Amino acid sequence: MAILRRRLLSTTAAAAVRRDTTVWTTAPLTIVRPAAESLFHVTVDVSDSPDLAASHTRAGQYLQLRPPDAVRPSFFSIASPPSLAVARGEFEFLVKSVPGSTAEILCGMRRGDVVELSQVFRERFRCGSDFAARGLFDCSDLRHWIWN
Ligand SMILES: Cc1cc2nc3c(=O)[nH]c(=O)nc-3n(C[C@H](O)[C@H](O)[C@H](O)COP(=O)(O)OP(=O)(O)OC[C@H]3O[C@@H](n4cnc5c(N)ncnc54)[C@H](O)[C@@H]3O)c2cc1C
Repeated sequence: MAILRRRLLSTTAAAAVRRDTTVWTTAPLTIVRPAAESLFHVTVDVSDSPDLAASHTRAGQYLQLRPPDAVRPSFFSIASPPSLAVARGEFEFLVKSVPGSTAEILCGMRRGDVVELSQVFRERFRCGSDFAARGLFDCSDLRHWIWN
């Protein structure tokens, strides 16, 4: 029992440390518009945070996004190519509005509303070539399929 309690405490402590390492950046939404049924195209202006924009370097990278009214943040993959972050300081997302979720709150927000973004995490799926990466970005059907 004591071992179990110690393990639980150390897991909780590790989780707390992990939470503390998240760096939050505030940024305004520039676009929130329907893309398909229950799917929204959401764009965030990160031009005031060049380090964050520059950390998007590869297809498949993702981050956590936290609207002010959300109980907790959720993960979202950056759907735009890194070149958009370089050229315009923007991240685009394709978000499925799941009832009761952080995503639903996000999809109900408007241009100019402010959200918090975590640092960008490494890619989920490694693309072997630029061609494959471009295909992933261009294929909105694939993005739709992944999150449905
Ligand atoms: C790497 C990654 C990328 C993603 N990219 C996209 C994307 O581009 N577009 C998209 O629409 N969706 C994406 N998702 C899915 C998205 O993050 C949510 O899972 C989805 O919106 C459903 O939200 P949810 O609130 O139901 O569940 P989640 O936020 O996934 O949480 C699942 C359940 O875990 C529990 N939970 C989660 N966090 C906590 C916490 N901190 N404390 C207590 N309980 C918690 C809750 O019970 C919750 O219902 C991605 C997910 C991952 C992992």
